[in-house]
Amino acid sequence: MRIFRFEKNGEIKWGWMNENLIGEIDGDPFLDFRRKEAIYTLDEVKILPPVSPSKIICVGRNYAAHAAEHNADVPEIPLLFLKPPSALIGHLDEIILPPQSDQVEYEAELAVVMGKQSRWLSPEDVEDAIFGYTIANDVTARDLQRSDGQWTRGKGFDTFCPLGPWIDTTLFPSDSLITCRLNDEVRQMSSTRDMIFPVNHLIAFISSVMTLNVGDVILTGTPAGVGVLSAGDKIDIEIEGIGILSNQVVSSTRIIG
Ligand code: MG
Repeated sequence: MRIFRFEKNGEIKWGWMNENLIGEIDGDPFLDFRRKEAIYTLDEVKILPPVSPSKIICVGRNYAAHAAEHNADVPEIPLLFLKPPSALIGHLDEIILPPQSDQVEYEAELAVVMGKQSRWLSPEDVEDAIFGYTIANDVTARDLQRSDGQWTRGKGFDTFCPLGPWIDTTLFPSDSLITCRLNDEVRQMSSTRDMIFPVNHLIAFISSVMTLNVGDVILTGTPAGVGVLSAGDKIDIEIEGIGILSNQVVSSTRIIG
């Protein structure tokens, strides 16, 4: 099932998709809920980020070809960093290029949404703790990531975490194609099969460090082919079986003058 959040007439609701129609959900999709009839079309609602996580945990260099394009070694254990929840935007929202950076880049990634509070999971127990999967863009100010030496600023600007459009709760993406198109031209294409650390190992590892809460989001790393975003660009990330996350890029001068 595809679950997401949307706004209609100023109210924020949980929703589900049936074909191309949207229905409301009564209750909490992480606990107990009931689906109502799907009656709205996508253009009748505003799609929001599909979840409000307590934290967004990200994994660096989880595809060998991407590590190689930055002349970086493949890590021996997962390389973790955080993005603040304030960076979240939804499908069709705008990525704002901050004035501090001259090199903002896209990174297409599979995202995991947790369904159970978890600590010290074994890899075998991870699947049972996952609520579902969605699509993320780990937008990165590459110049600031390099010059700062640690990644909080380069990864943490507002709008630097597009997520959605929805959470797929039935897919198990062990070999799903990730395709990233910049202005309709393919820039990244790889399979989740090419991850160095697969999803169950990543989440077991993260849960040995911190408690994962219901709704927390894990970005699983990007394949090769990252590149620069410019104002006016359209960036589409497709993951086979989930859908397409699409965002426009704008300059901050439009926002802060
Ligand atoms: Mg990344």
